Amino acid sequence: MIRALFVAAVALALCGTAHAAGAPVVVIDPGHDLRANAETEPIGPGSATRKIKDGGGTHGVLTGIREADLVLGVSLRLRALLRRAGVRVVMTRTTTASTSMGNIARARIANRAGAALLLRVHADGHASADVRGTHTLVPEARSGWTDDVYRPSRRAAGLVQTELVRALGFPDRGISERSDFTGFNWADVPVILVELGFMTNPVEDRRLARGEVRQRAALGLCRGTLRFVGVAPSRCGV
Ligand SMILES: [Zn+2]
Repeated sequence: MIRALFVAAVALALCGTAHAAGAPVVVIDPGHDLRANAETEPIGPGSATRKIKDGGGTHGVLTGIREADLVLGVSLRLRALLRRAGVRVVMTRTTTASTSMGNIARARIANRAGAALLLRVHADGHASADVRGTHTLVPEARSGWTDDVYRPSRRAAGLVQTELVRALGFPDRGISERSDFTGFNWADVPVILVELGFMTNPVEDRRLARGEVRQRAALGLCRGTLRFVGVAPSRCGV
């Protein structure tokens, strides 16, 4: 009996390993870090245009919560959901403790991982406290930089934005293309950047501070990601 159980356990372990090896890899990139990074880097391969590595992100107008902490919280919840659904997850960071690594480094982590998707998680800020809503950004198609990842990135953005808006209930600001994002132009894998909501809007700041709302955001991101990689979104749970 013990021997039979042992054999069954080994078989299960082997089966689990084989499954994980064939599973898609998703790289989650929680935006920013503890400190901004004023060093510059070229916005795309071979470009003479340089931008700073990280301006540091925004913060909650009421709560004072740092964007870096909010997006890491959502990203860790998302990691748990995706892993449970059988997706292999690589994180660009798991703490908010350092100077931000910059966007070429973030893209290279996804390139090296052969990611099915690089999912960049951010929250927005605006000079006007009235501006609010959920927004997803994708690379503009540019020959030699992003033409190879443009179409799958658009498809991923559509799926994730729809699920995220449904999960959070914030206004839908749609999808925008950007040609000037270093983290897009260096990516050799499909890439999107979600702006969960506006931390400069009191309603969205207060809601995004709640664990239950962060879990809903993670669930929306999980469902959109699973749709993109061809796994049933129900595997994120309810
Ligand atoms: Zn940000």
